[in-house]
Amino acid sequence: MARTTFFASTICFQLLTINTVMAQSSEPIIIAHRGASGYLPEHTLEAKAMAHAMDADYIEQDVVLSKDDVPVVLHDIHVDTISDVATRFPDHKRADGRYYALDFTVVELKQLHVCERFNAKTGKQVFPKRFPKGISSFQIPTLEEELELIAGLNQSTGRIAGIYPEIKQPAWHLKEGHDISRIVLSILHKHGYKTKQDRCYIQCFEHDEVIRLRNELGWEGRLIMLMSGGTRGPGKTDFDHLRTPEGLAELAKIADGIGPDIGSIITAKREVTNLVKNAHAQKLQVHPYTLRIDELPRFAKSTDDLLDLLFHQAHVDGLFSDFPDVALLWLKQNTK
Ligand code: CA
Repeated sequence: MARTTFFASTICFQLLTINTVMAQSSEPIIIAHRGASGYLPEHTLEAKAMAHAMDADYIEQDVVLSKDDVPVVLHDIHVDTISDVATRFPDHKRADGRYYALDFTVVELKQLHVCERFNAKTGKQVFPKRFPKGISSFQIPTLEEELELIAGLNQSTGRIAGIYPEIKQPAWHLKEGHDISRIVLSILHKHGYKTKQDRCYIQCFEHDEVIRLRNELGWEGRLIMLMSGGTRGPGKTDFDHLRTPEGLAELAKIADGIGPDIGSIITAKREVTNLVKNAHAQKLQVHPYTLRIDELPRFAKSTDDLLDLLFHQAHVDGLFSDFPDVALLWLKQNTK
């Protein structure tokens, strides 16, 4: 094929398919948890580029707001366990001793040096074998910078990775006077993520907000109810109820799937619970979190053992992983 013809057909193909899939795939998906965060500081653009290069199906964004209402990609509403904020802005501390992204303009957040996650008390990095803390140079990305990065890589590589934004603590943001969900939705719309045909899942731990996203705010794309292993969550969130067949039936009216912890699917005694079966009975997808090869659950004999339990015994539809390459390789070698 002549190069120009190939180029033209590639462009046409990309125009049709960027961010879009025509039908729901039944193949399991691997979601790069905070990017390829097992290898580079979480939620940096570098970690996201690496996840894309590793062929992750979806790349996760945790989203919080800055003081000037710019969505930025951070796991926590605090910035003091992944950056040098305490030395750079010592007077921005709240009475509880923490530094909140919401107290900084995006220009200020951009001045922070991001590093591997560390323990606020000891200063030691949480995962000692991961990227060394404090070397090289990393920044907090805005959500838009990250969406642009992924769209750019989708075009330049011809391989389409989806996005998987989590709206962090919407009730807390609202209490502070900021409507994070509304702002995030407007940015997703601007970047072409609108319907269930688009490669985007919104996720949230707050049941009230998942309902609000679908009903009041009119999100027409895919929606995942996250579930902690605990009994209750923020607001009226009742995880114990949501895990029951009745709770899952209610969820299925608004959500496309659930994101439970691994412990809700495989017990400490290596038994598969009914959660996936009951969710599938309601046509809900199940994407548990999180595969960390340097922090396996106690019941797992190895990474391969855990992946076998999740995909071949429990039949989950996807998995969050700090090490997307490990999960993808296992699926390639072990999918029948
Ligand atoms: Ca998350």
